[in-house]
Amino acid sequence: MYTVIGQNKIQSTWNNMLASGQIPHAMVLSGDDGYGGLSMALNLVEALLCQTPRNDMESGTKASSLLQGCGHCPSCKKMSDLSHPDLHVAFPMLTAARKKQGQKARGVLNTMLKANPYLSVDTFLNHFNTEGKKNVAGNITSEDVKQILSNLTLSSFAGGWKAQIIWHAERLAKESNKLLKLLEEPPPQTLFVLIAPNHKQLLTTILSRCQLYQLKPVAYSELTHLDDSLFNGSPRPTENQWKMAQHIPGKVFEQEEDHGQHEEAEQLAKELLDVLAQPPSSTSIKRLELSAKKLSSAAATLQHKTLRYAAHLAEDYHKTDKMMRGELASILSLIALELGQSVRISTRIMGLWLNLHQKIKL
Ligand SMILES: [Zn+2]
Repeated sequence: MYTVIGQNKIQSTWNNMLASGQIPHAMVLSGDDGYGGLSMALNLVEALLCQTPRNDMESGTKASSLLQGCGHCPSCKKMSDLSHPDLHVAFPMLTAARKKQGQKARGVLNTMLKANPYLSVDTFLNHFNTEGKKNVAGNITSEDVKQILSNLTLSSFAGGWKAQIIWHAERLAKESNKLLKLLEEPPPQTLFVLIAPNHKQLLTTILSRCQLYQLKPVAYSELTHLDDSLFNGSPRPTENQWKMAQHIPGKVFEQEEDHGQHEEAEQLAKELLDVLAQPPSSTSIKRLELSAKKLSSAAATLQHKTLRYAAHLAEDYHKTDKMMRGELASILSLIALELGQSVRISTRIMGLWLNLHQKIKL
């Protein structure tokens, strides 16, 4: 489950769509990566494939404005690392990296998206640009399209829906013609989600077969009722920052060039959560101080990425319930605040940490 700020109208339409079972077979999400279209599409598929869908989907309540699966069932767990056999994701790749890194690419996409649900395709592709070339564009090739056609002619693994997401469908170029027949007569219980910065870049013959959703700028006022944990460990942006970023969330949270930091951030985040999942003791306090020390000596972008990734992991942490996830997120944001000042664990953090474990015991 990815946190996407705004787009409430679309999310509530989707909630109703899932509740009523009236699911279109193909849709287009149109808008800059910074709106989080890919994350939204993955949330939709997670909810669609979830084995125990939430029953509190009535529209209008704050908790249900975000579309999500239960987060705990086997299907949701597989969705959380993009390994669900009924989820297919096609995305652009650099020609040079395709052979060498093709298999790893999906794992990289998963890690990067967890650190930043508004991941841009350029940042993603840059990860594979090991030779440091400038202006390298990735594409979706005829091989990918062959794969899409074969994915969708197979029956679903779990016997229910299957989904094909195409991130940056505009990079299909001429290849998109080959999908027309499939879009015209899709196999039953198949959902296509095409994501493009601008739907006008897609063939009209493709567009006419899809339901179109236009992603919209997010008004600053939509942030005021949001919980701090929704900012993935980043400080709450100011109104001015929001304006400067043209009301596009991803532009606010955009990271600087971040070559190779993802594995490191993932490792650090896991360390942090592993320690916090244990009750405080002299050993675990030392371990937490050690993790905080590592974190405080890291570059600012790595710190940010680690805390955002940790906040996301805390959300997925299957051993935890909703309350504990909230507590974990607030401890993490406190650690974020205190970083740089001291690596000794403050009494405030200690208090929260103890509190958390007392609640678990009850
Ligand atoms: Zn589920």
